[in-house]
Amino acid sequence: MKHLLLVVMGLLYAATAFPFGVYIFADMEGCTGVTNSEQISGGFGAARMEEDINACVAACFEAGATRVVVRDGHSSGRNVNPAHIDPRAELIQGPTPGVRYQHLDGCEAIILLGYHAMSLTPNAILAHSYSSRNTQAMYINGREVGEIGIDALIATEHGVPVVLVIGADDACREAEDWIPGVVTCQTKKSITTQSGKCLSAKRSHARIARKTKEAVAKRHSIPMIQPVYPSTLRTELVPKGSVRVVFPEYVRDPNPRIREKTGNNVEALLLGKPRK
Ligand SMILES: [Zn+2]
Repeated sequence: MKHLLLVVMGLLYAATAFPFGVYIFADMEGCTGVTNSEQISGGFGAARMEEDINACVAACFEAGATRVVVRDGHSSGRNVNPAHIDPRAELIQGPTPGVRYQHLDGCEAIILLGYHAMSLTPNAILAHSYSSRNTQAMYINGREVGEIGIDALIATEHGVPVVLVIGADDACREAEDWIPGVVTCQTKKSITTQSGKCLSAKRSHARIARKTKEAVAKRHSIPMIQPVYPSTLRTELVPKGSVRVVFPEYVRDPNPRIREKTGNNVEALLLGKPRK
């Protein structure tokens, strides 16, 4: 009886000894079954996002996470229906001025879910860099960069590694290029910026679950990419009156208007200083 008690206490200790959180930053363009602009402004894309998020959340808990935070990060940040999200997860919606990863405390890993390739990546589904209306290209210290690279640099500034990037084939390649050693999960293959070959939802969700467990298990061994300070963030702007960069008709402007900022914090360069 005494032994049994010790075993039970030991198991309880093991289960609670190392609590850790996982942070899922969720975009929509790279989600299962999303291939074009019409699908990302209404209910279709939001529903696909909910399904991918739930596959990922469940796998995080199975991998031992004691807390999972989901950031609804597409457009206004108000896409998914909270009633449709796994109730064990904490959901953040709406603007968080100056802060990319709100409530990151206690998290040991970041997952970029539903991500897409950087602006003007040839024939990459819905490729853009933060704004398909305003931004033609972004560079950090002279290297062309998109949301995957910038968000990984900001993650490092908070001491948390990006362990998994989920999206189309080109987004996965970009992730491996920017974050050597990161786990990637391909939900589809791009054909053009507005079309793709999709994995069935069932297979895609099973893949998300498997890759999530693998990435969370590797969270202490995936290296964080290191920002170089001072960092210069250069943004090339889309000409006024132009179509959005996600449409095949968009042609790269050879003499774009430029916005450039230099500083020692990539998050502040991207978002401005947090409002007090
Ligand atoms: Zn988005």
